[in-house]
Amino acid sequence: MKQFGPIPPGFAARDGELVIGGRTASDLAHEAGDTPLFVYDFALVKARIAALRAALPAEVALHYAVKANPFPPLVAAMVGEVDGLDVASGGELARALQAGKAAHAISFAGPGKRDAELAAALEAGVIINLESEGEAHRALSIAKEMHVKPHLAVRVNPDFDLRGSGMKMGGGAKPFGVDAARVPDLVRSLFQAGADWRGFHIFAGSQALDAAAVAEALAASVSLTAKLATEIGEAPPHVNLGGGFGIPYFAGDAPLDVREVGAQLSAVLAPRPEALAATTFSLELGRYLVGEAGVYLTRILDKKVSHGETFLITDGGLHHQLAASGNFGTVVRRNYPVAIASRFGAPPEDVVTITGCLCTPLDRLADSVHLPEAEVGDLVALFMAGAYGASASPQAFLAHPPAREILINHD
Ligand SMILES: *Cc1c(COP(=O)(O)O)cnc(C)c1O
Repeated sequence: MKQFGPIPPGFAARDGELVIGGRTASDLAHEAGDTPLFVYDFALVKARIAALRAALPAEVALHYAVKANPFPPLVAAMVGEVDGLDVASGGELARALQAGKAAHAISFAGPGKRDAELAAALEAGVIINLESEGEAHRALSIAKEMHVKPHLAVRVNPDFDLRGSGMKMGGGAKPFGVDAARVPDLVRSLFQAGADWRGFHIFAGSQALDAAAVAEALAASVSLTAKLATEIGEAPPHVNLGGGFGIPYFAGDAPLDVREVGAQLSAVLAPRPEALAATTFSLELGRYLVGEAGVYLTRILDKKVSHGETFLITDGGLHHQLAASGNFGTVVRRNYPVAIASRFGAPPEDVVTITGCLCTPLDRLADSVHLPEAEVGDLVALFMAGAYGASASPQAFLAHPPAREILINHD
């Protein structure tokens, strides 16, 4: 038997069924027309944002990284809840604009922007976070051709990374951002070209659960940008400090202590470095805002025994929820939180392995977990499915249909 991660708060049982956003799993499956489906409870997202704002210094704006979950109704609901949207492709940019966010509150990062993506960003007037000198050159010449003033920030590849992060995106040789030592020259060339310089963007890593490590990376980002500002001789209007706030996917994981992060960030910003006196700050968070609010529901199609091991075979799989199968950036496969949604809260009686319907041994959704006895037709819930689920999985693999998605938003 193997452990699985903690079921996130906000999910209760009614009549022996899992309830999401006030609705039972079977009602939701019925409404969707078929399984599998992702359900996102926006009340949980709003509660998360409120708690976060209470923990963070009031002067720090909160941005949503659309990459975590670009489902259009979710992005639209986010518009009124966060101060900015951060996008990482032309497609995400289109969704952010479609959702109704003002252009000045959208920033566009990501290595390898096509000319057409740069042109769309310039046309809309959003902030482009430049990832290289070459990209700066292209953005400036496209802006000149279009006769628009470009709003440009520089993404800095810092000389540090976020300790304990699941995915390191700073420190050493990286495809992201411009090495810190070359940033002052690049910013001076933006001034010379007459661009509107919007400041800096630093993103040091992802999925960190240790408050001290997160606070340390934020403090290092503040001092690095202060040092760069001093060298340039001009205060950045804005600094996007990244974030990397993690969520507890696995057994033994404890939630990030955001009050501790907030307290340490307050101490870093008050008093803030002289060079950043007029600067505004933001954090850009993805999974921390939406990850725990989503559940992937899939139905058991077959139950079989092989060499004494019981397998529950579902109609879902890694083509929808790659991360839960352990094939999205993890070295050792561990179990995401899981439940039999149609027998939620019943005592565990059986040790089972839950797989998807794909013809590959990679398609394991839960390995040797202790759950209530389940039968063909029962619904399985995989939690922590609100981020990097439907949009981060190989939906075309094996030509199964895409997952359905439902946002529950009561206002
Ligand atoms: C992926 C990414 C994020 C979001 O990361 P989370 O771990 O979901 O918070 C934020 N900013 C940048 C630049 C990213 O690439």
